[in-house]
Order: sequence, then C-alpha cells, then structure tokens
Amino acid sequence: MKSYKNIVLPEIKLKYFKRPDINAPDFSRTNYICAKCLMIDIPTVGSVYDGYSDNPKYFCEDCAIDAYMKDYDFKTREAAASWRRRFFDVGYLFNELIIERYLQEKGIVFNQLSNEKWEQLSNMSRDIYNSLSKKKKSILESIPEQSTIEGELKKVFKKVKLM
Ligand SMILES: [Zn+2]
Repeated sequence: MKSYKNIVLPEIKLKYFKRPDINAPDFSRTNYICAKCLMIDIPTVGSVYDGYSDNPKYFCEDCAIDAYMKDYDFKTREAAASWRRRFFDVGYLFNELIIERYLQEKGIVFNQLSNEKWEQLSNMSRDIYNSLSKKKKSILESIPEQSTIEGELKKVFKKVKLM
C-alpha cells in the first residue's frame, strides 16, 4: 500500500532560528543517558517518556526518529525524520512570520529588535499556534511547499494586533 507518509517533506527554511549545531565547540550537551541506545550525555533530547513521573526516560534524537518511524508506519527513515521535523518547524515558521510582520510594521530590521520584544512576540505566537486544533496543525505540517504553508499561517494571524 502506498502511503502519503512515504513522501520526504522538504525542510522548512528558517531565517532567524538557528538549528543547534551539535558539533560546535561551545555546544553544551545534556547530561541525560538515552534509555534505548544508552548514549551518555545525549546532545539534544529527542523525546521523553513518563516525563512527569519519578523516573522519566530520555531518548536521543536518532532513537526518537526510530520510534516515530515505527509508531507511524513510515517506509523510510528519511521520510519519518522529515515529517517529525515539521512538527517543530511549522511552529518556528509561524513565529518567524509574526516577527517579520512586526519588523515590517515598525520599519526596522531584525537586529533592531529588542530581546524583550522578541520574547513577547514569541510567546504570543506560541499561544496562537497552540490554540490551533491538532487536525489543523497536522494539515499544515503535511503541506510540501513552504510558500503554501506561509500563506495559510498568515491567514491565522491576519487580524492579530502586534503593537
Ligand atoms: Zn539513543
């Protein structure tokens, strides 16, 4: 059976968010051990199970992708990784579009944005994005073309006042 989930979704291009570079000399790893492959001091936490229990289990990014691939029945790891990434990136993209609109309205460039304002806009965008239904979010995440996603996201915050 051919599933739409075998498609590899293109990576969302982000302007302001930097993906962590785990090979950078100043990158600080976690001090967790992956519950599956037992990697020590995993660079980033891929997923957490039983996060609110006394015995939370942490998984490295690679093991999290493996689990996601299995849970959602992906044919390839590449496809699974691309879909999983969308889960985070569409939210980041939403945040960036809100910041972009703010910059345009103010007539300033990104470097002129204060940390307080960045935080305020980011919190606001997170609240709005989280208020979307799960279904709506998964539809957005599954759209291949970034420009189409951007058009849809802009509709979401069209009426929001930023200043
Ligand atoms: Zn692992």
